[in-house]
Amino acid sequence: MAPAPPGAADSAAALPPPAALVIRGGYVLTMDPAAGDLPAADVHIAGGQIAAVGPGLAVPPGTAELDAAGMIVAPGLVDTHWHMWNTLLRSMSADPSGPGYFKVMIGAGRAYGPGDIYAGTRLACAEAITSGITTVHDWCHNVRGPGYAEAGVRALAEAGLRARFSYGVPAGHPNDQAMDLDGLERLHRDWETCSAGGRLSLGMAWRGPGGSNPAVRVPEPVYRREIGAARALGIPVTVHASGPPTAQGQIAVLAAGGLLGPDLQVVHANCATGDEVAALAAAGTQVSISPHSELLIGYGLPRTAELLAAGIGAGLSVDTTVLTGNADMFSIMKVTQGIVNAEAHDEFAMTHHRALSLGTIEGARSLGLGEVTGSLTPGKRADVICVAISEPNLGVLTDPAHMLVTAAQPANVDTVIVDGRVLKRAGALTTIDLAQVRDDARRALAGVRARAGG
Ligand SMILES: [Zn+2]
Repeated sequence: MAPAPPGAADSAAALPPPAALVIRGGYVLTMDPAAGDLPAADVHIAGGQIAAVGPGLAVPPGTAELDAAGMIVAPGLVDTHWHMWNTLLRSMSADPSGPGYFKVMIGAGRAYGPGDIYAGTRLACAEAITSGITTVHDWCHNVRGPGYAEAGVRALAEAGLRARFSYGVPAGHPNDQAMDLDGLERLHRDWETCSAGGRLSLGMAWRGPGGSNPAVRVPEPVYRREIGAARALGIPVTVHASGPPTAQGQIAVLAAGGLLGPDLQVVHANCATGDEVAALAAAGTQVSISPHSELLIGYGLPRTAELLAAGIGAGLSVDTTVLTGNADMFSIMKVTQGIVNAEAHDEFAMTHHRALSLGTIEGARSLGLGEVTGSLTPGKRADVICVAISEPNLGVLTDPAHMLVTAAQPANVDTVIVDGRVLKRAGALTTIDLAQVRDDARRALAGVRARAGG
């Protein structure tokens, strides 16, 4: 096993302090309905917060200036469900003669040590920042013992991202055994020392009665004990409910058992019946939609339009790069919009602004972070991206929301700011040594493959 990394305490100490910074002259998409789009405006950042947004802002002497003329300035993108630990296994599920996603993920997952969780999560964090994602929901379903959850949390803290870390079972855990609730309770008790000043929060990654993995069917006393423990701690819960139409009924079981609620996020929900959609809406339960993984594993089309029409809070997600290859939230927004329009036979069924809203403020709200991030609103934490239009896939500045959703790529992201800290500038990561992260990931994968028998 790879050695466990040191503890999470003070792991964010190497990050730079929040910048006193004004971003000048960009085309600002605030995603705040009261402020709208501002074609040539400034964003003033101080003390980790957005201090002001508007044209020609006066700022205190000594404030650094970032010239964003010709750039699109927007809130950082928000992921709502991502198994960051398995990023070491990127693109390993697609051989039709091979075992497929769940068997690859579980077989390799059993060979993970805490250091492998750290290496995989660290690679995912580097990709998130590179791609303009400033908030992630790390759905860690491979907590195999002491040090595993801590390794994932430490990678998130060190990277500087805003994150929820959801604590789950080990990959391949027996269905009739509860998850390590003592370990979760210990982490919850000590959370203040690893929360990076509140930038990270803790949740439970719950199997529920059994979700998208057909091999997971959990007895009721076990799943009730697990969600009861999370609710006693007052932490949010996330659960998969997905599959082809034959998988209908997963959400009905939760509804009949009185287990839905606003503290619960259901992932995918693309097998939901009309009654199940209504039950989610009535309970205030949130949904995370991950179009690329839902398409690629064959669950069918995302149900975005129906979920939104029912008034359900929803966000978009990466899910797993074992299946989806990369964490490109621009393409996630684009395919989300495209499927809604295709099914409606209507070019304008979903606007580009709405797709961008799902990838920013609506995603933030669905994680309970709507007052913290997701829009460029004074008083919120400063999670901001600047997208340069210099590359040939952009090149001109027309409709900025349309450009972010349909044309932009991660390589166009010039600047990424999270909690007021500049984590990417002029197209380069400022705090992560990418060569080291890559080397560590390759070494960790080699070890996992050797221990898993290839
Ligand atoms: Zn998932």
